Order: sequence, then C-alpha cells, then structure tokens
Amino acid sequence: LADMAESFAGGKLVATVNQNLMIPWVKEEAFGNIFSELKKIDLHKAGTEEIRDITCCPGSETCNLGITASRGLVESLNTEMEKELEISKDMDHITIKASGCPNSCGQHHIASIGFHGGAKKLNGILTPHYEVLLGGRVTEDKAIFGTSVIKIPAKNAPEAMKTSIKDYKNNKQGEESFGEYFDRMGKAHFRELLDPLKTLPDIEQSPESYIDYGSTQKFSLEDRGQGECAGAVTDMITDRISEAERAQFQGKLSLEKKNVKETGDHARRSVIASARALLVTEGMDFNDDWECLKKFQSLVIDMEIVSAQFAKLIDTFEENTEASDEKTAELWLSESGLLLEECKAVQEKMQSDKSLRIRVGGDESKDKATGAVKTSASIDLLGVKCPFNYVKTKIKLETMASGSVLEVLLDDGEPSENVPKSIKNDGHKVISLVEEQGHYKLTIEKA
Ligand code: SF4
Repeated sequence: LADMAESFAGGKLVATVNQNLMIPWVKEEAFGNIFSELKKIDLHKAGTEEIRDITCCPGSETCNLGITASRGLVESLNTEMEKELEISKDMDHITIKASGCPNSCGQHHIASIGFHGGAKKLNGILTPHYEVLLGGRVTEDKAIFGTSVIKIPAKNAPEAMKTSIKDYKNNKQGEESFGEYFDRMGKAHFRELLDPLKTLPDIEQSPESYIDYGSTQKFSLEDRGQGECAGAVTDMITDRISEAERAQFQGKLSLEKKNVKETGDHARRSVIASARALLVTEGMDFNDDWECLKKFQSLVIDMEIVSAQFAKLIDTFEENTEASDEKTAELWLSESGLLLEECKAVQEKMQSDKSLRIRVGGDESKDKATGAVKTSASIDLLGVKCPFNYVKTKIKLETMASGSVLEVLLDDGEPSENVPKSIKNDGHKVISLVEEQGHYKLTIEKA
C-alpha cells in the first residue's frame, strides 16, 4: 500500500475513523493501475463504508477491560451477512459496530446496529452477552446515540442483526433510513421482535452457545481488569505530542500566509503542548501555561532531558507575548519544531525502555535504592486524578529500597480501582486496600 501511495498518489496513507485506510490524491489516470495493484493483494473488493463494512474494537483478546471477543463476533456477523442477507443499495447507509465492553472504543453508540459486550448467567452458567443498541447515527450536524433495546447471548447476536435488518427492509416507508424507521417503530417494537433471542438451548444440547467466539474455554471474567494506568499515561503523552504537531502544521500554514502573529502563537502552542507531554511523566498537569513552561524548564531542560538551547526560547516567550516580525516568527516556529522532535525522541525512548521517567547520568535513584535500608513512607493522593496518582506513586516507589512499604491515600472510584491493579502489574506487592472515611488506603511493598 505504501508503494502504491508513493507511485500513484501523494505518498500518504490516512487511517479513517471507520477503520479504513484512505489513499488521498490519487491521480485520475492512475485509477486502473491502482485497481490492478489492489487486486494483487486482495484489497480491490467493494464494501468500504457500506453495510458490510462492520467495525469493532480489539475486545477481550487483547484489551484488559474487554468482556467479550468483539472481533470474533464481527467475523461471525460478516459470514452471516454474506450467507443470508440480500444486500441492496438502500441498505448501505446502515452501520454496524461492536465493542467488547460498554466503553465504546468500537463506537457502538453511534451505529445503526450496535453491540457492546457484557456477561450474564443463563441457565445457571456465566455466558457472554451483548447489549443491542439500535437507531444510532451521525449526520452532518449532530450525532444520535443508539437506544439500548435488549441484552442477548453473544451467539444470538448475528440473528439479532439479520432480524432487525429484514424487519427494516420489509416495512420501511419510501426512503426512510434505518434510524428513522427505528424512531417511528420505537424500542418496544424491536424489543418484542428480538425477545425470542434472549434464551439458549440447555448446555447439554448446545455447549458452544455458552462460550465466546474463537474460544474453546469456559467463559470467565477472571483475567479481566488489570490496571490501565500505564496505557492512560502513554495516551496522554501521545495526545499532547499530537497537539504540538497540529500547532506546527498550522504554524507553517500561517507562515506561508505571512501572518506573523498567528505563526508566533502556533509556535508557542507547540512548545506548551510538548512541555505538557513530558510533564505527564513527572505526574504534573497545568492549566496555567506560564507555570507549565517554568516547571518544564526546571524539570526537563535543566536536567538535560532535552537540549539546554530551549531555555532561551522559553525566556523569549516570557519577554515577548507576540512575535515582532516575520523573521522572529519563523525562528520561533523552527525552534519549537526542534523541541517537538526532541520530546518525541524522549517519548520513543521511554516506550522502548518501558520506563516512565528518563534519568540523567545513569539510574541514580535505583542505585541509591539498591541495598539501602527498607523504609516506610506515605503519600496523600486525595484529589489527584488518574493517571497522575499512578505516576506519583511510581515515582515515590522509585526512590525507595526493595522491600520498603508505601502507604498511599486514594480517592474512591477510578483511583482506588486502577492504581492497585497497575502497581501490581508493575510487579510490586499490594499488601492491603482498606476503606477509610470515604477514601482508600493502599499499602504496597516495593518489589
Ligand atoms: S470498548 Fe472495552 S473492550 Fe473494547 S477496546 Fe475499549 S475498553 Fe477494550
């Protein structure tokens, strides 16, 4: 695909929100060639952005929060659709999406027919289920969330899809869309239609109905729910780096238009986003831009995690609220671009080392901790939001010797659920998690 994009288009591939790859700027005279090349790798068939283009999240196969194997479900939906549904053009606006849990990474909430994973006991056996949501859609000016209609066993989900589509096809009025049909008929109509799908035959008659797609094992939720904090930290850094990249792009456009003020503003925005990205690893977040830049200077630039030359750029920002002329704006933009590149290199290093913090002059605190006396300490993280509470706990643990005990006060909810699991993932021992006056005390023994 990369070769094709380079030979026949603008050398770019774009990942779309509907999980497709788009090759933009294909030259018209290259259509025939590109089709032949796509055919060689079996990617030439129609179906993109049509009813057959079913999408989903990774589900329980790889996601720690996943309840059901949404990818397996989608494979089955595709097979059943090919086998049993007569597809026509008027059905291509129907979107079908699935997620392995209610979190909706598969965007089930905006699909005409959406499924999200769940679990429920049926005939006394814990069985994978899907909540069926109908009537969701995105129009030019608004998004309408689907209505939760019924919860059915996972193995009945393909039947629910076929039944709903056939009902629409047979009874729609004129050009009515699936969403409009759902609005007209109402939840009660579909609930009644899908009600027979709530049950399964006895396990002796149909044991495969009680296990998930792609599995041969009894369905269970035991492996579920490892902490997601480390992933949240990475996402947060990536979001901020992307923000800096956007600022760079917009800055270049402004410079082309010779708009000095806007170019300078985008350069400043790029520096702030880069700073905020790396400060996540220090457990810090700032609403105040100036405070953020000052902290970045003392914790990142002064520690030589990025080059010392950027201190001058931050000082310039302190002295000047806007770029005075085109030359200055161009310089700010190029310097902020270099800073972004260095921050990205730090991020990549952290990812490849699987380390959360970058150290200067060796792994100093680890050396200090090795062989040191076991200590005990406590930190109060009440009011500190996720994942900063995790980062602060991790940073504190890094300064302690193996076998030391750390007590951490955490808020109820996400913090008390996620931090203990993530700390356990990191190899430390969770001694206890006790509720105390509306919050939690987590006691950890450092590995
Ligand atoms: S929707 Fe749930 S299962 Fe799917 S990726 Fe998101 S968190 Fe994981």
